Amino acid sequence: MPQPEPVVVVGAGLAGAKAVETLRDEGHDGPVVLLGAEPERPYERPPLSKQYLSGGAPREGAFVHDEGWYAGHDVELRTGVRATALDPADHRLELGTGEVLRYGRLLLTTGAAPRRLGAPGADLAGVRYLRTLPDADGLRAELSAGDRRVVVVGAGWIGLEVAAAARSYGNEVAVVEPLPTPLHRVLGPEMGEVFARLHRAHGVDLRTGTGVRELVGVGGRVAAVRLDPDGELPADLVVVGVGVVPETGLAAAAGLDVGDGVLVDAALRTSAPDVFAAGDVAAAFSPLHGRHVRVEHWANALNQGPAAARSALGREVTYDRVPYFFTDQYDLGMEYSGLGAPGERVVCRGDPEGGEFVAFWLDAEDRVTAGMNVNVWDVTDAVQALVRARQPVSTEHLADPDVPLADLAGG
Ligand SMILES: Cc1cc2nc3c(=O)[nH]c(=O)nc-3n(C[C@H](O)[C@H](O)[C@H](O)COP(=O)(O)OP(=O)(O)OC[C@H]3O[C@@H](n4cnc5c(N)ncnc54)[C@H](O)[C@@H]3O)c2cc1C
Repeated sequence: MPQPEPVVVVGAGLAGAKAVETLRDEGHDGPVVLLGAEPERPYERPPLSKQYLSGGAPREGAFVHDEGWYAGHDVELRTGVRATALDPADHRLELGTGEVLRYGRLLLTTGAAPRRLGAPGADLAGVRYLRTLPDADGLRAELSAGDRRVVVVGAGWIGLEVAAAARSYGNEVAVVEPLPTPLHRVLGPEMGEVFARLHRAHGVDLRTGTGVRELVGVGGRVAAVRLDPDGELPADLVVVGVGVVPETGLAAAAGLDVGDGVLVDAALRTSAPDVFAAGDVAAAFSPLHGRHVRVEHWANALNQGPAAARSALGREVTYDRVPYFFTDQYDLGMEYSGLGAPGERVVCRGDPEGGEFVAFWLDAEDRVTAGMNVNVWDVTDAVQALVRARQPVSTEHLADPDVPLADLAGG
């Protein structure tokens, strides 16, 4: 009997690893190939800017599966191999090695890559990005010296987490952000200010409303950051965290529908037959939001990978989870559920100055679009129920800690 064509998963990150795990859990016993451009087996990225970077967790803790798991589950894991071209009509995939693979079903879990800084001098030694385990190894080695002048470009999640890790070793840290507050586009000014206060309280020199004009080098290594409109910061190390770009090249060149990510329906099917996409690369139609949504969240990779695998096996799938994100910085732990818009009204339950509160974003009809619990735990289900309900809520009740959140989701 000829072997059936394999299910090929392109991208050995969290979404890809969870997809192959699900194929086996669902009883698929045909061949499975997991291709990864990185030399490492799949690992999780959140520890790279948190526990691992600050020295509180071992490198080994980041991996999704034990080393022997793939062979043990008859998954052909091929690391250090990039897929270079896709021919969906012929069910063929070309690899960087020159090989051609035929597939029965293909899953694209190619993730995202850091956006590069465009400023002059951005290619000097000492300018770093943080996406991969080797990036984190290098950064950790420098930061742990504790005597560096670190300039972080961009006060997004990665930039702020790196700033916190850098401070934990005692380095001097400045953060440069062109917008008026950290996390301005995600959280808006009020909640962005919570993170501004947090970092300033921990000794970070936070420069908002400030861009980078150029990086100045001495002997080929970065020595200072020239600011826009004015000023200069000395720097032994610059860490750039200015967002990521989805890895859509393979899909776009193959003629698949691509927007801000590979466009997939709620069953995570691309526009090409037998090709699915999940994780950071996928812009999935969200029945909850009534549009395509692409999020760069750990939980999305964790859950969409398995959903795409089930869909590829012909199971009935509707991916309709509420987006969920978390961060840890110093003694602040937070979870964010939903998709708020920066201009929306924010209502708080608890006092942001006190460090323990839940913030809610409300649209023009007083419907909760997102909630963020800061150092308050076990409320995610209730927050997500409110987001999912899409019903106007009483803002008075929302702000009142004596009214159980669970009572509000009913409208
Ligand atoms: C430092 C860091 C910290 C983070 N912290 C948090 C957090 O606290 N909370 C949170 O919710 N999210 C966090 N995230 C985001 C989260 O890690 C991502 O959403 C998640 O990693 C996405 O997983 P993925 O599998 O979709 O993509 P990726 O993790 O990007 O994996 C995709 C893989 O595909 C490979 N690939 C790409 N193209 C090809 C090709 N053509 N052929 C073969 N392989 C290819 C890539 O090399 C990569 O290894 C963090 C991200 C980073 C970088």
